[in-house]
Amino acid sequence: MDLARRRFLQGSVRQEQAVNRLPWLISLQCMQDACTRCGDCISACPTGVVQKGEGGFPELNFSRAECTFCHACVDVCAQPLFDMQASPWKVSAAVQPSCLNQHGVYCRSCLDVCDVRALTVEFAGPGQQHILLNNDICNGCGACAAVCPEHAISIQNHVGGDAHVG
Ligand code: SF4
Ligand code: SF4
Ligand code: SF4
Repeated sequence: MDLARRRFLQGSVRQEQAVNRLPWLISLQCMQDACTRCGDCISACPTGVVQKGEGGFPELNFSRAECTFCHACVDVCAQPLFDMQASPWKVSAAVQPSCLNQHGVYCRSCLDVCDVRALTVEFAGPGQQHILLNNDICNGCGACAAVCPEHAISIQNHVGGDAHVG
């Protein structure tokens, strides 16, 4: 096993907490075993959300773009890494306290780009507004995170097939 694959395997649990992988990926183990790190998925992605991560394995960066679920990354990949019958990923996302609305500044950038209306506003008193994110509706596209001027939206899209995913 080469060093990059060994590092990927050793860091897989840690990375699961912090790194968003490609949609429809079967498992981290599958990626570690079969991804050739060719970068074709990076080149194919029309939004630019896929980048080369640790060890050369692809990962998503929602601070710069969203995933539109176009599956161009899946279509271009020559390896058996994906299950298109499953959902793209499991989502756990949240709005952090650095959101401008929690500091008396009006902002609706994230609401404006959320196609599925997973974000709502809660009025909590004079000058007190909270943006709420409904994980039951959110599809984890990352559009809200990409436009947030404070980077206040955290998105963790868990790979569906991994046992340690919560
Ligand atoms: S196209 Fe497939 S094999 Fe190549 S880097 Fe992307 S996921 Fe890995
Ligand atoms: S589904 Fe489309 S937008 Fe999403 S990561 Fe793949 S190529 Fe990029
Ligand atoms: S990540 Fe969720 S809340 Fe954000 S724009 Fe996409 S669907 Fe809406």
